[in-house]
Amino acid sequence: MIVMKFGGSSLTNSGNIKNVAEIIEENRDRHPVVVISALGGTTDDLLQLKEHALAGHADICMIRERHDSILDELGIVTQPEGWNDLWDELNSVLLRISFNMDRADMLEGQLLSIGERLAAKLLAALLNDRGLPSVSYDAWDVGFIEISDKLVLNNPDLLNRIYNCLHKVTAAESPIPVITGYIARKCDGKITTLGRNGSDLTASLIGAALKVNEIQYWKDVDGIMTADPKKVNSAKHVPLISFQEASELAFFGSKILHPSSIKPAWDNGIPISIKNTAAPDRHGTTIVLGLPDESPGIKAITSKRNVTLVDITSLDMVGQYGFLARVFEIFRDLKLSVDLMATSEVSVSLSLDEAHSLPQLKDRLEKFSRVNILSGKAIISLIGHVSQTTSILQQVFVTLNNSHIEVIMISQGMSRANISFVVDDENVTTCIQQLHNCLYDLQQPVAMKSSNINTQNRDTIHA
Ligand code: ASP
Ligand code: MG
Repeated sequence: MIVMKFGGSSLTNSGNIKNVAEIIEENRDRHPVVVISALGGTTDDLLQLKEHALAGHADICMIRERHDSILDELGIVTQPEGWNDLWDELNSVLLRISFNMDRADMLEGQLLSIGERLAAKLLAALLNDRGLPSVSYDAWDVGFIEISDKLVLNNPDLLNRIYNCLHKVTAAESPIPVITGYIARKCDGKITTLGRNGSDLTASLIGAALKVNEIQYWKDVDGIMTADPKKVNSAKHVPLISFQEASELAFFGSKILHPSSIKPAWDNGIPISIKNTAAPDRHGTTIVLGLPDESPGIKAITSKRNVTLVDITSLDMVGQYGFLARVFEIFRDLKLSVDLMATSEVSVSLSLDEAHSLPQLKDRLEKFSRVNILSGKAIISLIGHVSQTTSILQQVFVTLNNSHIEVIMISQGMSRANISFVVDDENVTTCIQQLHNCLYDLQQPVAMKSSNINTQNRDTIHA
């Protein structure tokens, strides 16, 4: 059995939706469980409708016309069951939002759910028309209920519930289930979402619950690249990557996978494949448990922008214990999550990607330390099986020095899957281009132009 998840970028028009149906057909012997996002752009359109409703007038015509004409173009003559009910529900939610503005956020989950629910009905109808028996399910009918605000990913109750609901409908001769990604019901029964691009997570949880052989993410790209092709023309395709590398990539800026979606598959050792709907025969990228030792080197370079740095120094703490505990208590209280960290005996530098509560943070830290907060920074991460750290760092610093890019902080974990450093945000593109050039394109040691390398490097650990 496999899980096949199709993202919105694979569902933008009748042409690529037909490709999706063909791909499912070709894999029918592997007993696919299909997870689907809303048609490309629909979630954004629904969010826009919410704004229009708040402003007093929301019109569903455009979004309805788009879906109806795709049904027409696909030759689906019988409207899927419940199709009209969903449009009525959309109208009624928008009306409630415009009359109950203060409850708009509570109704947002229900509003956004319509996109995935329409898409699942549409695809199941198409598969049935093509002679492939298929049934659409809303996520809450297959166990995605009682979801708390902070979804605990290894929650065995959730996985058991999904298993209990799905194992009956995924027996060998059952129709293919087409399940809505992204949406769920909370403990109070209200509809919620798993966060933008959350269908990846739905697919991974279903894969983990059913212990499938493979989880496939079908997108509009061939998989993971050595760098963002929009920044680096010569970016190369990465065929194989470990779970650890993939999760570092997802957390440190690659948009290819929802960061939380890796864990359920990883915990259960289920390989993930990223494939291109427009070129299904190409290899894509496979994420696996362990990589052979002979695959060292940097797999990819990513960037995370708009990062804030917090530099904390406390001379009172020389020889004392508890400094970091005191610092982290404050971060926990303010719900600030730390990405990178570099420490010494009396000081610590941290990076944050959410810049909320900074005045309170400064206030509390200044009770026992000197604090400097810098915004407009970016994290560049080199992800891979970094077995020759020293020589890689040498190449990195020589390259950056030659390009006059200053490194403000550096962090490398013992796990050696990630070397990250912080630069000014304005240097990101040059930095990635130069590093890609040196690490992938030149494939030979770079010569230093001058020895003036300026970093605030200290003993580092990776947060
Ligand atoms: N449709 C949702 C979004 O656009 C969920 C997803 O695509 O996975 O974020
Ligand atoms: Mg998406």
